[in-house]
Order: sequence, then structure tokens, then C-alpha cells
Amino acid sequence: MKIVIVGGGFGGLKLARRLNNKPGFEVILVDRFNYHQFQPLFYQVATAGLDASNISFPLRKVFHKSKNVRIRLAELREVVPSENKIITNVEEISYDMLVLAMGADTNFFGNAQLAEEAFPMKSTVEALQLRYRLIENFEHALYMKDDVELQRLMNVVVVGGGPTGVEVSGALAEMKKYVLPKDYPELDFKRMNIYLLEGGDKTLGTMSEKSSSQSRKYLDKLGVTVMTNTLVKGFDGKQVSLQNGETIATNTVIWAAGVRGNVPEGVDKNLIVRGNRIKTDRGCLVLGYNNVYAIGDLAYMETPKYPSGHPQVAPVAMQQADMLADNFIRIERKSTKFYDFEYNDKGSMATVGRNLAVVDVPKPKLHFGGLFAWMIWMGLHLMLILGVKNRFFVFSNWLYNYFTYDQNLRLIFKEFNKTKTK
Ligand SMILES: Cc1cc2nc3c(=O)[nH]c(=O)nc-3n(C[C@H](O)[C@H](O)[C@H](O)COP(=O)(O)OP(=O)(O)OC[C@H]3O[C@@H](n4cnc5c(N)ncnc54)[C@H](O)[C@@H]3O)c2cc1C
Repeated sequence: MKIVIVGGGFGGLKLARRLNNKPGFEVILVDRFNYHQFQPLFYQVATAGLDASNISFPLRKVFHKSKNVRIRLAELREVVPSENKIITNVEEISYDMLVLAMGADTNFFGNAQLAEEAFPMKSTVEALQLRYRLIENFEHALYMKDDVELQRLMNVVVVGGGPTGVEVSGALAEMKKYVLPKDYPELDFKRMNIYLLEGGDKTLGTMSEKSSSQSRKYLDKLGVTVMTNTLVKGFDGKQVSLQNGETIATNTVIWAAGVRGNVPEGVDKNLIVRGNRIKTDRGCLVLGYNNVYAIGDLAYMETPKYPSGHPQVAPVAMQQADMLADNFIRIERKSTKFYDFEYNDKGSMATVGRNLAVVDVPKPKLHFGGLFAWMIWMGLHLMLILGVKNRFFVFSNWLYNYFTYDQNLRLIFKEFNKTKTK
């Protein structure tokens, strides 16, 4: 059975690993990058806490000893289900089974100006671009004579009070407190403002009430200006305009307010639902097809427990990949019984800063906050990062940062005088 998997993220990579060296399967894993990205730590790359290579893992290295998994560095352009083939930017690939695991991209809700000017954080490259902009702002601030322009450089606006927005705001607040005043002694960091704008009435709205209120308390403690019930109307690269008519002067907006599935051309448009996700059955089979599957952030599956689809998180993608691998093995063995997907939610967590995190466990219903939650958060992320070397480097970086209150990665790898970062 020739299985083509598009996307080497949490779902696609897990599936390829499950089918690795399984007799009866030929697997082609296609991705536009030649590495797997550990998205939960993008914010630490953006805020110079981790090196990009620490959270990236070369896909080819995962399959060094594989007899049946092959990698293609290519971007999917179109699916042609009637001919059982996909078209990429470099070649056409035929399949017996196709698995779409391309995840999601930033959703700017159709606002072209926002898409042009704001910083998303959906790839390692984007996290690095954001890092450069943040550091360059302070380099420019040193020369700025105009007070209004100086303030614009010192303001950072984060949009979206979910885990990503909360984590990046907290990390910026810690940079402001511990690192930046030492790097730029000429600047007055009391003037640096970090705004976190959230459309709903609380931060971490999808977590428990306790986690929401605790995250808000932690952010307040770190000096982040949290503005709830606040909707962004636009951003022209110089100021953010809000629905209520107010404006915030800044040249740096970090957009963490939504994602939309990476649906390829060729998929029946009637199957695309809210959030640009593709409708599947309980076996991840795209409705109306007999050999095209979708998993992870891109898939939309209704179940009695999740009538409006599953949360777009890594464990859903990985558990769907697991189930699909089992079903493929059953198909190969000519079995007629297949598994239906049931999400096993082991909990959710977010970190705000050193010793400050929140953890919710659904069964038994538990909530942790503070240092203990922070240690759980660190332990779990270390376990999930791919590669012993990466784990070691991330852990040693965290230790170093913890004891020195510093990160040493504030480097701008760009040609001199090329100021455009996006
Ligand atoms: C900043 C951030 C923080 C997050 N934090 C957490 C967290 O703490 N916990 C958690 O559970 N989840 C978190 N998530 C969500 C989690 O990362 C996703 O739910 C998960 O990655 C989804 O897995 P996936 O396999 O569906 O897609 P991804 O892991 O996104 O993988 C998609 C892959 O497809 C590739 N691809 C996309 N389009 C194409 C194309 N046209 N051609 C070829 N390849 C393509 C991409 O390069 C990528 O490798 C976070 C996400 C972000 C952005």
C-alpha cells in the first residue's frame, strides 16, 4: 500500500513513524520544510530564549534506518482524487492512500493590511523574523530623537489571549525586566509597554476558570497591560486601531488570534467548514472519498463528545495519527473492523513566566498553578521535543536562563543595512 502523507508536523510525522518498517507499506512523507517544528516553543525562539535549531528536527534523520519511508521536500499544490495523485511544486506523486496533515496557518480574517504588517508565529522562520524585529526596535530606539516615534518603538502589541498570546506576553515582560535594561542601559524601560489584547472577557478562555483568573493575575504581576473585550480593527504598521475607536502606537503587532486550515486545491469545497477545516468521518476519512484522509488541525470531525470539532492541539493530531496507523494496518490485513476516533484529553497547560504556569487535568478534575505547574509544563515539553540532543540543549538553555536571568541569543542574522524584516 503506497501511502502519501503531506505534512511532517505532529500528526504526519507520528503516522510515518508508526508505519516505519511495517511490511506491506511504502510511505512518502512530503513537507515544505526539511524539518519537523515544535510549535509550542516558537515563542521562546521569538523572544531569544531558545535557538531555532533546538526546536527543529531534520525529517530525514528520523528515518535513517527506514526501509520504507522516504522524504520529499516539496509543497503540495493540488490534490487530484480522480487520478489518485497529488501535484507538488516539483513533481506529481501517485498514491493508494493520501493523508492530508498540513495543519493550519495564521488567520487574519481576510484583513490584508494586518496580514502584511503583523507578525504571525506559525513557523520557525516567522518566529525568527519576530525576534529580529524586537531586537532591532531597541537598536533603533537608541538613535530616536522624536519622542512619539521612540514610544512607538517601545510598545509591543500581542493580539489573542489564548496560550500563545499569554506565553509570548509573559516572555516579553521577563525580557523587559531582566535582560533588556542590561543590553540597552541608555533606554528607559519603564517606557516599554506590552499590551495583550483579547476579544473575549478573559485570558486562556478555553481553560478552567481558575487557570483563566490565575493567568490574568500572573500577567498583571509581570506588568503586561491586559485589555479584554477588545477587538482590533486594523494595523497600518504604525498604529493599531481598535473597534472602540482607540489607537495604540506601535510598529510591532504579534498576531496570535486565530488559525485556518491549510486546505489544498482539489478538495471538494462543500467539505470545508468553519476555520477552513476539512470534514471527515470518525476514521479521519474525508467525507465522500474512499482513500483521502485528513488529520490534526486541518481535520474537522464531529463526535458526541466534541459536536463542534476537536481542539486544534498536538495531542489530537498525534492520537488521530495513531488511530489511522492502526486502521491502515487493519486494511492491509483485510480486516473489516476499524477503529473510530475518540479523543483522550489528558489536560491543557500554559506558562506565563518563571515559576508561573497553569495546568488543568480533566480526569480526575485537578488544577495546578505556580511553580509546580511550571515544572509539569517544562517536564512535558522536554518529553515531547524530538531528539535527545534537542532535549539536552533546551534543558541546558532553560537551566542557564533560570540561574543567570539571561538569554544569550539576541543575535540578528541579517545583512547589514537590510532593515526590512518581513
Ligand atoms: C505558537 C504555537 C504554540 C502552540 N502551543 C501548543 C501547545 O502548547 N500545546 C499543544 O498541544 N498545541 C500547541 N499548538 C498547536 C499545535 O502545534 C498544533 O495543534 C499541531 O501542530 C497540529 O499538528 P498537525 O500535524 O495537524 O499540523 P502541524 O504540526 O502544523 O504540521 C503541519 C505540517 O505541514 C506542512 N505543510 C503545510 N502546508 C504544506 C504544503 N502545502 N505542502 C507541504 N507541506 C505543508 C508544514 O510545514 C508542517 O510541517 C501551538 C501552535 C502554535 C502555532
